Amino acid sequence: MTRKILVTSALPYANGAIHLGHLVEYIQTDIWVRFQKMRGHTCWYVCADDTHGTPVMLRAEKEGISPEVLIERVHREHARDFAGFHVGFDNYYTTHSDETRDCANEIYSRLQAAGLIETRVIEQYYDPVKQMFLPDRFIKGECPKCSAADQYGDNCENCGSAYTANELKNPYSAVSGARPELRQSEHYFFRLSDPRCQSFLRDWTQAEGRLQTEAANKLQEWLGGEGENRLTDWDISRDAPYFGFEIPGAPGKYFYVWLDAPIGYMGAFRNLCLRKGLDFDEYWRPNSATELYHFIGKDILYFHALFWPAELEHAGYRTPSKIFAHGFLTVDGAKMSKSRGTFITAESYLAQGLDPEWLRYYYAAKLSSSMEDIDLNLEDFIARVNSDMVGKFVNIASRSAGFIHQRFAGQLCTCDDSLPAIQAIRERRGLIAEHYEARDFGKAIREIMALTDLANQYVDSVKPWDLARQPERTGDLQVACTNALNLFRLFAILLKPVLPALSARAEAFLNVAPLVWDDSATVLAAGHAINTYQHLMTRVDRKLVTALIEANRESLAAVPQAGPQKTTAEPPETAAAGTASGPQVSLQDFMTVDLRIARISDAAPVDGADKLLRLSLDVGPLGSRQVFAGLKAAYDPATLVGRLTVLVANLAPRKMKFGLSEGMVLAASDADGEVPGIFLLAPDTGAQPGMRVK
Ligand SMILES: [Zn+2]
Repeated sequence: MTRKILVTSALPYANGAIHLGHLVEYIQTDIWVRFQKMRGHTCWYVCADDTHGTPVMLRAEKEGISPEVLIERVHREHARDFAGFHVGFDNYYTTHSDETRDCANEIYSRLQAAGLIETRVIEQYYDPVKQMFLPDRFIKGECPKCSAADQYGDNCENCGSAYTANELKNPYSAVSGARPELRQSEHYFFRLSDPRCQSFLRDWTQAEGRLQTEAANKLQEWLGGEGENRLTDWDISRDAPYFGFEIPGAPGKYFYVWLDAPIGYMGAFRNLCLRKGLDFDEYWRPNSATELYHFIGKDILYFHALFWPAELEHAGYRTPSKIFAHGFLTVDGAKMSKSRGTFITAESYLAQGLDPEWLRYYYAAKLSSSMEDIDLNLEDFIARVNSDMVGKFVNIASRSAGFIHQRFAGQLCTCDDSLPAIQAIRERRGLIAEHYEARDFGKAIREIMALTDLANQYVDSVKPWDLARQPERTGDLQVACTNALNLFRLFAILLKPVLPALSARAEAFLNVAPLVWDDSATVLAAGHAINTYQHLMTRVDRKLVTALIEANRESLAAVPQAGPQKTTAEPPETAAAGTASGPQVSLQDFMTVDLRIARISDAAPVDGADKLLRLSLDVGPLGSRQVFAGLKAAYDPATLVGRLTVLVANLAPRKMKFGLSEGMVLAASDADGEVPGIFLLAPDTGAQPGMRVK
């Protein structure tokens, strides 16, 4: 039976580059979609850039361009990166589209008619300088629990507590640095606490096979038991200025980006329907016979398994058949890190000349149907691609194609399909298909690789390269190479969902039509002529991987680590927080100042200067320095000897009449003079001369 399937990946947010963490999901989805298409099913794969919200608005403003120009540029970059990794969307669209707006308005008005939209006045922080309400991520302050400074308005990175922005102590706007004011505003809510939503979700989330077990358990926790009312209403509006869709009949109020992001799946599909003449309603009406699957990261389960199905159900649409959540990517066992060079962008991977199918193969070998994180171990990556892809798979063809071409005018003879390797493939291909269907790609790869071992045992036993040297065994040579090329063809079919480009090259040299799954039950007929062997895949050179890491390593060890790998909506902004004291500098600018720990090895008054002391400083590996400092009024020179302080080590030397001053030591003083004195800075115990301060 031919299935009709609509598949989505989460929408990447339109203010950042695609990286290898994102690609786990797109490669996972793409493999699954390609498998379905090879099986002969009708399967549509749509996605879009998630374009709305405050971060896009502010980023565009910072770049001095309109949000529309920004999202167009990012869309081109994203589409280029996905194509580079052979992610074959049927439509890669944008949420900033008429189709998405129409769908959002439709859903909103139907929810309103169902009595599930409510307005309420809430108090929210407002930036009086920037004249806008601030999302939690744009408010910083001291943690109400542990008092750590510069924490975001939703949770503390120091102690891990979650709280509301209103609980922060000494809050400030991360946009302007101003102290925010609490102001009232009318907001629109989707009434998720309504008993209709709660009872619907209780059934929906626990339906057999709808969610992975671990996800269903998580949902159970969020929903609570029968009669409990744990869900709160969802705030779906934001006030102007906002980049998004204005809510119909509510001037100055916009749909929150998370409302229109999943609706972007519908918008992208509606656009595809318009272009291809498909029936949109067939896929979205209640009780549709078609299937709908969302591939997502485990961090956005809340939006996809609660808000989204509740919206769809009560707006009179079908709900997702299943939701497939996956874990995050680690590299060499740790979170991706800019300082270690493991925060690798898709663009740099391709620019450094690495083959995208190496990564597709490696991810496939690691992926399962669970929500566990997957690790890109770089040593293992090199070893596995070289031994499996090149050593076990490609070599079957490269060792036999040449003989067929040179000695037999490209013609194959009869394939011996009683060979154990061919028999084993026929027996196992059903199981391999089940693993693909269940997204257990790692299991599928293990099965396929075990079969390549059988094939290589065969080739090693018949030794075509030996036969080629024995003129009387020409017939055996043709049989051996025919069998080997048939085995290669079968593996090209089984691996095609993972390696589409390599399989296309294989199809060209084997001189066959695009391979489909059922072809794995057959062999090539005697007399079939192949084309010249084309190079299929090279080994991973360790130097390429080293160069890739270097290209992605940020020289500044202090650069903040990337936030969670959220694929959709409002990733944490890493922009430096403003303060009320003067213009901001970038971290990069700040890091150009070379601050070092220095030990004062000598201190003495300077003849003819009543404020200065001459300090001799030991700066460890940087040697010794002489600095003139205005400390005489505050310190007895003898008490300074042996103390540690902080030196600006790369300040241009200054020639004074007493001698050369090679830097500056740091001290605090009250600008208004109300607190008298000068206070030399000192590091905590343990710091050593020469250490960098940052
Ligand atoms: Zn804290």
